[in-house]
Amino acid sequence: IRLYVDHPLAEGQSIPLERDQAHYLFGVMRQPEGAYVALFNSRDGEYVAEITQAGKRGGELTCRIQSKPLQLPPDLWLLFAPIKKARTDFIVEKAAEMGTQRIVPVQTEFTNSERIRQDRLQAHAIEAAEQCGGTYVPEVAGLHRLDRILADWDPERQIMFCDETLVGAAQALQAVESGKWAILIGPEGGFSEAERKRLHALPFTHAVSLGPRILRADTAAVAALTIWQTHLGD
Ligand code: SAM
Repeated sequence: IRLYVDHPLAEGQSIPLERDQAHYLFGVMRQPEGAYVALFNSRDGEYVAEITQAGKRGGELTCRIQSKPLQLPPDLWLLFAPIKKARTDFIVEKAAEMGTQRIVPVQTEFTNSERIRQDRLQAHAIEAAEQCGGTYVPEVAGLHRLDRILADWDPERQIMFCDETLVGAAQALQAVESGKWAILIGPEGGFSEAERKRLHALPFTHAVSLGPRILRADTAAVAALTIWQTHLGD
C-alpha cells in the first residue's frame, strides 16, 4: 500500500491520518496496528511507515526508514483543453503516470467545458502517483484561457505544440534540447486558425505532427507524452 500525504517525512516522524485515509487503510484494506505502508509527499522521497494507531476516524503512522529518494519527473508541463469528464480524468491520470511536473487545463476558442473540478483532477493525479510508484504528484492548475497563459509565458519554457493540421512523422523534436518544456494539446474541435497562427509565430513553440491520422485528444496526450519522453525524457 502506498499513500500520498501532505506532511513532512523523516525517520521517527509521526503522521496523523485524515478520516478518509483512515477509512481506506483500516476499513477497506483492513490493515492492523503494526502493519507497514509506504508514504510519499512530493518532497522527501518515500518512507516505510508503521501503523502506530488505528481508529475509526483517524490514526497515526510513524516513519521508520526511507525506501526511495525523491525522483523528480522532468520539468515538463502538459497543457490540454478539457474534454468530457472521463476522458479528462484519463489525461490527468496518464500525465501523472508518465512523468510531468504540472498539468494545466487550458480554455481555447473551441474548448467546450468552461469549468473543471480541480480538486477531483488533483485526486486523480495523486491516485495515479500512488499506483505507479512515483514519489512526486504533479500539481493540477485551475482552468485558464490559453491566450492569457501565452501572454505571460516564460520564453525559456519551450512548447511542443501538437498541430493536427500537420502531416507526417513527429520530427520537430530531433534538433532541440531538454530543459523546461510544455506539451500543448487542443480540444475536440482543434485549434482555431487564429490560435494556430499565433502559436506558429511564437519563438518558443515547436509544431509537431503526431502522425498522419487525427487522434482523439486523450490519445494525442499519451502519444505526445511518449514522443517527448523518447526524445527528451530521462
Ligand atoms: N477537430 C480536429 C479535426 O477534426 O481536425 C481534431 C482535433 S484532435 C481530436 C484534438 C487535438 O489532438 C488536436 O488539437 C491536437 O493538439 C492533437 N492531435 C490529434 N491528432 C494529431 C496529429 N496527428 N498531429 C498533431 N496533433 C494531433
